[in-house]
Parts: sequence; structure tokens; C-alpha cells
Amino acid sequence: KSSRSDCKESDSEPLPIYHHKSKLVRAVKDSAFLVVTGETGCGKTTQLPQYLYEAGFCKNGKIGITQPRRVAAITVAQRVAHEMRLTLGKEVGYQVRFDDCTTEETEVKYMTDGCLLREVLADPALSHYSVIVLDEVHERSLNTDILLGLLKKVFSNPDKASEGRRRTFPVKCSFGSAVGPKDTESSGYVKEVVRVALDVHTSEMAGDILIFLTGQNEIERACDILYEKAETIDYRFDVHDQTVEGLLILPLYGSMPTDQQRQIFQPSSRGIRKCVVATNIAATSLTITGIKYIIDSGFVKQLNHNSRIGLDILEVVPISKSEAQQRAGRAGRTSAGKCFRIYNNDFWEKCMPEYTVPEIQRTSLTGVVLTLKCLGVHDVIRFPYLDSPEERFILEALKQLYQFDAIDRRGKVTKLGELMVEFPLHPGLTRAVLKAASYRCPDLMLPVAAMLSVENIFIRPGHSQKQKEADERHRALASKSGGMNDFATLLSIFHFCKSSEKPAAWCKENWIHWRALKSAFSVETQLGEILYRLQQRSDFPFESFDGNEKNKLRLCLCAGYFTNVARRSIGKAFCTMDGHGSMVHIHPSSALFENEKDFDWVMFNDVLVTSKVYIRTVCPIRYEWVKDLLPKLHEVDVYELSNVARE
Ligand code: ADP
Ligand code: MG
Repeated sequence: KSSRSDCKESDSEPLPIYHHKSKLVRAVKDSAFLVVTGETGCGKTTQLPQYLYEAGFCKNGKIGITQPRRVAAITVAQRVAHEMRLTLGKEVGYQVRFDDCTTEETEVKYMTDGCLLREVLADPALSHYSVIVLDEVHERSLNTDILLGLLKKVFSNPDKASEGRRRTFPVKCSFGSAVGPKDTESSGYVKEVVRVALDVHTSEMAGDILIFLTGQNEIERACDILYEKAETIDYRFDVHDQTVEGLLILPLYGSMPTDQQRQIFQPSSRGIRKCVVATNIAATSLTITGIKYIIDSGFVKQLNHNSRIGLDILEVVPISKSEAQQRAGRAGRTSAGKCFRIYNNDFWEKCMPEYTVPEIQRTSLTGVVLTLKCLGVHDVIRFPYLDSPEERFILEALKQLYQFDAIDRRGKVTKLGELMVEFPLHPGLTRAVLKAASYRCPDLMLPVAAMLSVENIFIRPGHSQKQKEADERHRALASKSGGMNDFATLLSIFHFCKSSEKPAAWCKENWIHWRALKSAFSVETQLGEILYRLQQRSDFPFESFDGNEKNKLRLCLCAGYFTNVARRSIGKAFCTMDGHGSMVHIHPSSALFENEKDFDWVMFNDVLVTSKVYIRTVCPIRYEWVKDLLPKLHEVDVYELSNVARE
């Protein structure tokens, strides 16, 4: 035990990476570009930056470490500050979108890959850094892939790979029978993982449980049921291992408050079995010690570009086989473990792909292509991507940027494009914000943009009786704000709570997520600051507004959302106008759901695919508002743009 930072508090055995410390530091000094591999949990994320810090890498710049996920960036920074006995936010800090916990003094900076990409925009040489660690490169997140490509242009090829010693124990995997090739409804597998968890709890020896589900809603639902059922266990009779005397249920997902997250890493007290119910974040980014049992739902939430409807959709899909192996491996870190897969062999064979497709090959590239263009990468088709996305995805991005006036016919970034790239939002939303700003009414759009950037503020309890009550409350809120525009409802809830004396109580009563709303307040302030900076530019494109004030919000939205316009087709179905002509339906959570008869044109924020394709956060619009914009969806010849891109 030679240095406090090499050891976990609870045991004195150094982490595997410790044995390679001097070799690693030397290798980093000697090479421009280094690949470090080692088994999950060996200490790459938390230890390597500390080694570099000790070795003096902070003398002429910061140590920057990127993470694809915000929770990981925050949690790991907390952990490292703690291990180094330094204050978080001073020498060790983190920065994620809308949350900057760094100061001038910060020397070790954890951040999301998106944040570093923004820094590259401002300073392509990254001159404030002496070393950059791109973590979780194997996850192939879109931003990390792009960063690799950018760094590859600056540096030569990787010099060396150092292999960590494997240190895992066997994990016995079993298949269940609850999920087969035809099962995709999440209510089914949530119940099943809970059932298996309780079974493990009562019939297996001591050891903590880790459950993999796909998102916050499911996780909270599972925790609720678990909690309820665990209450009824009689520890004198029902439990096989008499040393087990209780169950501690802990959710773990991206937008959780960080003080709650900290509990996850604390060893459970004697006799208490910990049960962590997590998203995929627990598969690689965060390592929880003491896990002996894995319960794998077989699903993950993934952002996929749906080229049939031309939009990015967050959907629940089967994990890949390699992902399933990774999940199972989390049980074998300290002793032999068990992994309970709730799906059957047929599901494994027929539904699960071998490997996960990199994000760059499955999501919209609009934001990234604009970023690249602003960095001076004109030829976005021949950029050194790790895995090139399909050319049609790049073309689609170019087309969309052209439609937003972010690039011109020759593929050059316009003035507007330069403004757009400053916003950490989807380009369409950014376009709407800038439109409002140019009409000198940013206060109409900033709160809406903020509300759309945080997690869903409407609580959906899922429990049928409570759900009815929540729905009623939400409908009442919608009708209070005019009743026919989901964007306006968001705006009015924002303002109401901002000026309310007891917002938390009001939120509770109305089934509104108070914490999400609070983040929206902070996001709005930050977007406002960015916008304020841009408006100081002498060439900010102000314009006069000569329409009806009543329609102003929707007119601003049209500037960015004309790509998301649909026209009434047959009965309750609408047909999208983006050239894909997909059939969509208004989601039951929309205020327009019940009143579907009165309008022919709608604009929407996002799409949800279940048995049908649903559009969410909707408002009716008039055809005149988009009449001049819609032709843009077809006018541009993508081949022209692509030829320009290749020049
Ligand atoms: P790697 O990046 O190689 O997967 P990490 O550096 O994340 O490994 O983790 C190294 C060890 O530190 C793991 O055993 C993990 O359990 C422990 N650890 C990481 N974060 C925390 C934390 N917040 N609290 C307690 N232990 C932690
Ligand atoms: Mg790591």
C-alpha cells in the first residue's frame, strides 16, 4: 500500500492498474497517442489521471478526461476528488452539458465528450491541456468517435497498447423463459426482473444484486414493486441464507441526484443485501463492488436514426450478445457470480445482434456535421471516421443544415450556422430559439427549449389509478394555458413555477417533476447567457415581426420544426411532410389527443414508436406558416451538396 490513492478504502489490495503505474506514465510521456486497455474496474478511469497528476502533467496544462455519459463524469470526478483529498470543483472538477463544476484552478477535469468537442471548436489545439484521456472509446459514442477522428488528424497513429491482466471469476449464466422473440412490451420484463430479483434474494447466498433495465421510468417502477414485495418477506422463514436480513433497493440512472448516487458505492451494512436497479451505465462506466448476481432484462434504450421516418428515435431495443457478456461480467469481479437472463435462447439467437452498432452509424449527424464544418473540415464525407457512417446519413445531415440555413448551397457555413453551433441543442430547436431572438422575444422560446432539454417534467406513475389522476391534472394544466398547444403548456408551467412561492408543493400536487423543472430553470439561464453573448455581435440578424402576437411562439417554432410537420390524413392519422410521408398519431399525453378533429396541420417535437408511430409535444399550425418552408424539404439536390462536400 504505497500511496493512498491506489487503494480502495475498504480493502488494502491495490487495483490491478497499480502494477503498471510507472510503465503507463512512461508510455504517456513517450508517445503522442496511446491506447490503454484493461478489464472493467481495473482502475483506468479513476487511477490513470491521478498517476499523471503525480507525475507532473499538470505543470503545463490540464489533464482532461472525457466520458460519454454525464453521470459517469460527475460520479468519477467526485470519487477522484475524494481519493486525492481535494475539493471537488477546485483542483479536480467536472463539466457536463449545463453543469460546470470547474474553476481556474482545475487541473484534473472530467467532462462529457460533448463538452470537449465544444472546446475543440473554440480552441482546436486544446492548448489548455497537457494530456487528453478519451475514456470508454470502445463504446463508440458519436462524440468520442469524432474526437478520435479529430485527434487522429493532429497526431500520428497509436504507438502502443498495454494489456491489463485479467482478473475475473467465472459467472454462471442462465436463460429464462419470460422473454422470447415476440416480447417487447416493457411491462412484461419489468415484472419479470422483479420476480427474479426476489427469488434470488430469498434463495441465494449473500451478495449484492444488479438489475439492468433501460430507463428511469422502468427503474422507478421496478423499485416501487420491489419495495412493496420486499416488505412482505419474513426473514425467519422465507430466506435461504440466514445471514441475509434485509434488502436495500437503490435506483441508478442518468438524471438522478448525485447524493443518492453516492449511496450506490457504499458497501452495504452487515446482513443487508444491496439491490441496484440500473441502466446500462453500470455495464462499463461505473463499477459497483460486491455484485454477485446480475439480472439482465436483455434490453437497452438507444437513440436510433429511423430513416423510414427520417428522425432520431429513442427506442428500447434488444442488447447485443457482446453487451450481454459485458453485463454478466459485472458479477464476477470479486468472486464467482451468477447471471440470470430473463430471455430465452430463441431471443438470444434471433433478436440479439453480435455487436452493438456504433452510434455514428445509427443517429442523425446534423449537429456533428455542423461542428465539423465550423472546425474547417469541409469534406465531411472523407473525414477520417473510425467507422464511416453511411453516406446517405451524411447527405441527410447536409440537407437538413441547408434547410435550416446553417450552410449554403456550396456547403459553406453561413452566419446563422456560426451562431447555431454555439448552442448545445438540437439544430432545429436552436433554429427556433434564434428565430425568437431575432424577433427580440427570446423569452418565448428559451423556457420551451430548456423544458425540452431536461427529462420529461410530466410524471407518469404507471399505476392505473394514480395515472388517471396524473392525466387529469396534466389536462387541467394544458387547458389553463389555452388547451391546444403542448409547447405553450410547457411555457406556462415554467413561468408559473418560477414565480410560485411554493413550487415544490405545487409540482407534487400536479404530478410535475420538480427536480426536472429546477434543472430547466438552470438550463434556461445558461441558454440565455449564450444567447446574450451572441446578440452582442454587431451582425446578429434581428428582424421585425409583423404577424399576430398570439401566434408568435408557434411561428418561431416553425422556423426550426418545419421538418416535423404533419397533415391530417385519414381519421386520426396524420402524414408527415418531410418526403417520408409516414403515418403518425397524436400521443395520448398531448392536449390535442382528445380534440383531434379541429385541425389539419400539426407540428411536433418528437416521435415515439410502440405499436404505432406517435408524435409527442404537439401544436396545431396553419399551412401558410410553413408554406414557404416546406418546399425546402424537397428543393435541394443532395448530390449537389455531396459533390461540394467532396471538393
Ligand atoms: P475502470 O475505469 O478501469 O473500469 P475505475 O477506475 O472506474 O475502473 O474503477 C476502479 C475501482 O474503483 C473499481 O473497483 C470501483 O469499484 C472503484 N470505484 C470507482 N468509483 C467509485 C466510487 N464512486 N466509490 C467507490 N468505489 C469506486
Ligand atoms: Mg472506466
